[in-house]
Amino acid sequence: MSNGKLNKSNADVWEALQDVTDPEIPVLSLVDMKIIRDVKIENDEVCVTMTPTFAGCPAIYQMKSDIEEKLRELGFEKIHVELSFKEPWSTEMLGDEARMKLETFGITPPTKHKGDPISTMHVAVTCPHCKSENTTMENPFGPTLCRMIYYCNACHQPFERFKAL
Ligand SMILES: [Zn+2]
Repeated sequence: MSNGKLNKSNADVWEALQDVTDPEIPVLSLVDMKIIRDVKIENDEVCVTMTPTFAGCPAIYQMKSDIEEKLRELGFEKIHVELSFKEPWSTEMLGDEARMKLETFGITPPTKHKGDPISTMHVAVTCPHCKSENTTMENPFGPTLCRMIYYCNACHQPFERFKAL
């Protein structure tokens, strides 16, 4: 709990961070993505621990400054955003709600893999538009590191698949 003048709790911080979206997937917040791992407040000083999806992800700095801006809005002046790679991020961490939001956004959610992401490379990929499995991979390198481009042979639309990690 907070013990400073600001009187903001961890729950306030978590709630505010719900508004900070992933710059690459604007439909998911950093909380939905499980990128935000921990929040600590001590004497009006807030420390947020985050684990980026990819170590070399260029969006890290964007996310960091978005978090800082949001917490400044909340009233914090001393803000630390720490990167943690202790427990690597994995698409297995995405909850059902996050997966549903992805699909609604038109991105096929990452296939669940129980620790073996390579095994998902050859499974049938479902089109997020028409749910057909008659799809072909067009390009393993989508607009960002974590997305691949597919084409649906049933509804003739391209779509993206979130790479399992
Ligand atoms: Zn389709």
